[in-house]
Amino acid sequence: MKSSFNIVFTDDIDSKFGGYAKFPNLLQKYLGKKVEILIRPKYRNDIGLLKHELKHVEQFNKYWFYCIRYNLSQAFRYKMELEAYNEQIKEYQYKNVTQAQWIIDALAIKYNLDIKSDDILKDVSNLITRS
Ligand SMILES: [Zn+2]
Repeated sequence: MKSSFNIVFTDDIDSKFGGYAKFPNLLQKYLGKKVEILIRPKYRNDIGLLKHELKHVEQFNKYWFYCIRYNLSQAFRYKMELEAYNEQIKEYQYKNVTQAQWIIDALAIKYNLDIKSDDILKDVSNLITRS
């Protein structure tokens, strides 16, 4: 199967993020434009971050109107990011929430989510327990 994405190492990303999946719109997709996974050069060897972004590519291929839903629905965005961060939790083999505190902070701050820290803590704890 032809790969559906390209990986680009660049610092031309929103300063909040170490990586970013850039999706083509419908017309671009029709014209054959691929998903671009942008990764900061300093995270070039960070398999967990790559797996986080690849999870977003999988989601993009799985859910209709993924980008619109991601942008418009906090609940959807939260669900997608939890799935993506779970890839990092598994890759880094986190065993407790202290190790994942940076993920809890990121979910509380970076994604414009109106979700209580307690709930994020609970959800991330559950991911660690299950991984
Ligand atoms: Zn993400």
